[in-house]
Amino acid sequence: MNISHQSAHQHDISAFSRGLYIDGEWRPSGSGELIEVVDPSTEAVIAAVPDATLEDAAAAVEAAARAAAGWRETAPRKRSEILRRCFELMVERSEMLATLISLENGKALRDARGEVAYAAEFFRWNAEEAVRITGEYAIAPGGTNRIVVDHQPIGICVLITPWNFPAAMATRKIAPALAAGCTVILKPASETPLTAFALAALYEEAGVPPGVVNVLTTSRPGPLTAAMLADPRVRKLSFTGSTGVGRVLLAEAAKNVISCSMELGGNAPFIVFDDADLEAALDGAMIAKMRNAGEACTAANRIYVQSGIYQAFAEGLRSRMAALRVGAGVDSATECGPMITRRAVEKLDRLVTDAVSRGAQVLCGGVVPEGSGFFYPPTVLSDVPADAEMAHEEIFGPVAPLSRFDSEDEVIAKANDTEYGLVAYIYTRDLARGMQVGSKIEAGMIALNRGLVSDPAAPFGGMKQSGLGREGGQHHGIAEFLEMKYFAASF
Ligand code: NAD
Repeated sequence: MNISHQSAHQHDISAFSRGLYIDGEWRPSGSGELIEVVDPSTEAVIAAVPDATLEDAAAAVEAAARAAAGWRETAPRKRSEILRRCFELMVERSEMLATLISLENGKALRDARGEVAYAAEFFRWNAEEAVRITGEYAIAPGGTNRIVVDHQPIGICVLITPWNFPAAMATRKIAPALAAGCTVILKPASETPLTAFALAALYEEAGVPPGVVNVLTTSRPGPLTAAMLADPRVRKLSFTGSTGVGRVLLAEAAKNVISCSMELGGNAPFIVFDDADLEAALDGAMIAKMRNAGEACTAANRIYVQSGIYQAFAEGLRSRMAALRVGAGVDSATECGPMITRRAVEKLDRLVTDAVSRGAQVLCGGVVPEGSGFFYPPTVLSDVPADAEMAHEEIFGPVAPLSRFDSEDEVIAKANDTEYGLVAYIYTRDLARGMQVGSKIEAGMIALNRGLVSDPAAPFGGMKQSGLGREGGQHHGIAEFLEMKYFAASF
């Protein structure tokens, strides 16, 4: 494998590590301590951001509380126009933002550009939603009074996001929260904080008032989050990350009965029936597996192919995966960037070694390259048995495990044999079969003859242990940040 490297020194990123963003100001952490940010392509330290203390977190909650009344009273039209401006600025700055994402996350520039476009859309969509928050009105069946239902901003929100989509996972929460009239504290992943700070500066420029959005980075997310959730003014926790951390946070939030939205892990089945359009299924598999080099909750984690098309599909996927250019994210020729950490590479190595020891065959890749950078080659495994560890864990990397199936019932049972239920992909030319199989699969999202489901206009989210609630969609995403108030009104 030929790996290209490019250095962060070619880009000036110092402006994005100015400090914690609290009450519209950039400040150092109370302790003066810093967290280093590493370029996964080179392993070089490219920046350092403040490591927030409990006092910094308290200051952020205080700032969000002070700004709350003013923001909720701001006319929806005005909020909408500020959000629209955030969208426009993100589009204008998309190349700078994409480069920053590539540098700190490692993803290929083309994936980073796609992420910025997707992330910006949450501002456009929620600018439109901000002025369409409706209520209900009815006459009580007994005729004695009117039932009036109002939707109010839920209050101060703590938002926690992962490193795999540093821009989109944040805007998917911030945009609907602000549209609903809430103020927020964002805690981005410490691996990728620079994008969150760059966006905070952009929100300020778009007219978001001080204290409405606050951004904290920390190496101690557990204690800081617990302290924020213990403040009775915090009424919402919106988390995107692993199921394990989600469970811990649900327990923490239970102490103050805080409303939770949880976007957690996935283990997506990708099902190809004999009658599928082979080229379309291969195109879809490459998107579903390799967007973000496989570091996505929606990534195809188990690829089930019907026996009649198995050989042709396996050969097609092998040749496409083996041809991918691996390299530094910021190199525009790169198609598959590095993993986020050395630990992620070690996990892939462990999962592949385990699958091979249980009888899987390596069609391409499968060997960790020498040298600097957290690289793992695009890998295809054939005949991966159901008891392989990778069939039950998130792979989160460029490894595509193939298995055969014969009947519809067999593949539905296999697809559902997981605690996760985020997304499933189905390829068939028989639309009725696609809908029937899709309705029996326990997942919040079904991609039918498509390798991509994410869309701000559609409700994104999972069943089972993949999460609670939805982000995006017609009113669903904004509803997570609203609370109902019912008036029993006699007049
Ligand atoms: P993670 O759960 O390790 O971390 C997510 C965030 O939680 C980070 O900001 C981290 O600092 C913070 N965190 C960690 N421990 C915490 C604690 N005790 N208290 C409070 N915060 C804590 O996940 P990750 O490795 O950053 O991201 C990958 C995971 O995210 C995968 O499981 C992936 O499937 C999931 N994910 C889900 C979606 C979705 O929409 N369902 C989207 C993207 C990623």
